[in-house]
Amino acid sequence: MRKQALKRTNIGVSDSVVAYMVKIDWTTAPVVKVDIRKEFKLTLHRVSVLRHEYHILDEMHATVKPGQTLYFAKSDGLDGYYYMTSEDGCTCKAGRFKMPCHHIEMIIDHIDPTVYADVA
Ligand SMILES: [Zn+2]
Repeated sequence: MRKQALKRTNIGVSDSVVAYMVKIDWTTAPVVKVDIRKEFKLTLHRVSVLRHEYHILDEMHATVKPGQTLYFAKSDGLDGYYYMTSEDGCTCKAGRFKMPCHHIEMIIDHIDPTVYADVA
Protein backbone atom coordinates (compact mmCIF):
# COMPACT_ATOMS: atom_id res chain seq x y z
CA MET A 1 0.00 0.00 0.00
CA ARG A 2 1.28 3.44 -0.91
CA LYS A 3 2.00 5.89 1.87
CA GLN A 4 0.70 9.36 1.22
CA ALA A 5 1.00 10.94 4.59
CA LEU A 6 1.76 14.44 3.44
CA LYS A 7 0.24 14.63 0.05
CA ARG A 8 -3.06 13.03 -0.68
CA THR A 9 -5.02 13.40 -3.86
CA ASN A 10 -8.29 14.93 -2.88
CA ILE A 11 -11.16 13.36 -4.75
CA GLY A 12 -13.69 14.41 -2.16
CA VAL A 13 -13.83 11.13 -0.31
CA SER A 14 -11.87 10.28 2.79
CA ASP A 15 -9.97 7.05 2.44
CA SER A 16 -11.39 5.88 5.76
CA VAL A 17 -14.87 5.42 4.25
CA VAL A 18 -13.70 3.45 1.25
CA ALA A 19 -14.18 -0.28 0.86
CA TYR A 20 -13.19 -2.59 -1.97
CA MET A 21 -15.98 -4.72 -3.33
CA VAL A 22 -16.43 -7.35 -5.99
CA LYS A 23 -19.59 -7.74 -8.03
CA ILE A 24 -20.86 -11.30 -8.06
CA ASP A 25 -24.08 -11.84 -9.95
CA TRP A 26 -24.25 -15.61 -10.21
CA THR A 27 -25.20 -16.28 -6.60
CA THR A 28 -26.74 -14.62 -3.56
CA ALA A 29 -25.04 -16.91 -1.04
CA PRO A 30 -23.67 -15.12 2.03
CA VAL A 31 -20.24 -16.61 1.51
CA VAL A 32 -18.64 -17.62 -1.75
CA LYS A 33 -15.53 -19.73 -2.09
CA VAL A 34 -13.63 -19.71 -5.36
CA ASP A 35 -10.70 -21.96 -6.17
CA ILE A 36 -8.50 -20.28 -8.73
CA ARG A 37 -7.41 -22.63 -11.48
CA LYS A 38 -6.22 -20.11 -14.04
CA GLU A 39 -4.73 -16.66 -13.69
CA PHE A 40 -7.31 -13.97 -14.15
CA LYS A 41 -7.98 -10.31 -13.49
CA LEU A 42 -10.31 -9.62 -10.65
CA THR A 43 -12.21 -6.34 -10.80
CA LEU A 44 -12.45 -4.57 -7.47
CA HIS A 45 -14.80 -1.63 -7.12
CA ARG A 46 -13.74 1.19 -4.86
CA VAL A 47 -16.89 2.09 -2.97
CA SER A 48 -17.50 4.83 -0.45
CA VAL A 49 -19.72 3.70 2.39
CA LEU A 50 -21.30 6.40 4.50
CA ARG A 51 -24.28 5.75 6.75
CA HIS A 52 -25.43 2.83 4.61
CA GLU A 53 -25.12 4.83 1.42
CA TYR A 54 -22.91 3.21 -1.15
CA HIS A 55 -21.27 5.03 -4.01
CA ILE A 56 -19.12 3.26 -6.53
CA LEU A 57 -16.13 5.52 -7.18
CA ASP A 58 -14.05 3.60 -9.66
CA GLU A 59 -12.54 0.21 -10.23
CA MET A 60 -9.17 -1.43 -10.17
CA HIS A 61 -7.84 -4.78 -11.24
CA ALA A 62 -5.88 -7.33 -9.32
CA THR A 63 -4.20 -10.33 -10.85
CA VAL A 64 -5.17 -13.55 -9.14
CA LYS A 65 -2.75 -16.44 -9.44
CA PRO A 66 -3.77 -20.06 -9.83
CA GLY A 67 -3.73 -22.21 -6.73
CA GLN A 68 -5.27 -19.53 -4.53
CA THR A 69 -8.59 -19.89 -2.80
CA LEU A 70 -10.58 -16.71 -2.42
CA TYR A 71 -13.48 -16.11 -0.11
CA PHE A 72 -16.09 -13.43 -0.58
CA ALA A 73 -18.55 -12.23 2.05
CA LYS A 74 -21.80 -10.64 0.97
CA SER A 75 -22.32 -6.96 1.63
CA ASP A 76 -25.22 -6.16 3.93
CA GLY A 77 -26.18 -3.04 2.07
CA LEU A 78 -25.22 -3.24 -1.57
CA ASP A 79 -26.98 -5.95 -3.54
CA GLY A 80 -24.77 -8.18 -5.61
CA TYR A 81 -21.53 -6.94 -4.09
CA TYR A 82 -19.14 -8.87 -1.91
CA TYR A 83 -16.09 -8.10 0.19
CA MET A 84 -12.94 -10.07 -0.37
CA THR A 85 -12.23 -11.68 2.96
CA SER A 86 -9.77 -14.09 4.43
CA GLU A 87 -8.94 -15.21 7.93
CA ASP A 88 -6.38 -12.39 8.07
CA GLY A 89 -8.36 -9.51 6.72
CA CYS A 90 -11.19 -8.04 4.78
CA THR A 91 -11.68 -5.33 2.18
CA CYS A 92 -14.56 -3.68 4.06
CA LYS A 93 -14.10 -0.32 5.76
CA ALA A 94 -13.26 -1.79 9.17
CA GLY A 95 -11.23 -4.67 7.83
CA ARG A 96 -8.99 -2.42 5.78
CA PHE A 97 -7.84 -0.79 8.99
CA LYS A 98 -7.36 -4.12 10.74
CA MET A 99 -10.44 -3.65 12.86
CA PRO A 100 -12.62 -6.65 13.60
CA CYS A 101 -15.52 -7.17 11.23
CA HIS A 102 -18.23 -9.78 11.00
CA HIS A 103 -17.24 -10.82 7.48
CA ILE A 104 -14.21 -12.68 8.80
CA GLU A 105 -16.48 -14.56 11.22
CA MET A 106 -18.80 -15.38 8.32
CA ILE A 107 -15.91 -16.85 6.37
CA ILE A 108 -14.68 -18.90 9.29
CA ASP A 109 -18.21 -20.14 9.97
CA HIS A 110 -18.60 -21.13 6.34
CA ILE A 111 -15.19 -22.61 5.79
CA ASP A 112 -17.13 -25.60 4.60
CA PRO A 113 -18.57 -23.72 1.68
CA THR A 114 -22.21 -23.36 0.80
CA VAL A 115 -21.32 -22.40 -2.73
CA TYR A 116 -18.47 -23.84 -4.67
CA ALA A 117 -17.39 -22.39 -7.94
CA ASP A 118 -14.92 -23.23 -10.64
CA VAL A 119 -13.85 -20.04 -12.28
CA ALA A 120 -12.26 -20.11 -15.71
ZN1 LIG B 1 -15.25 -7.00 6.65
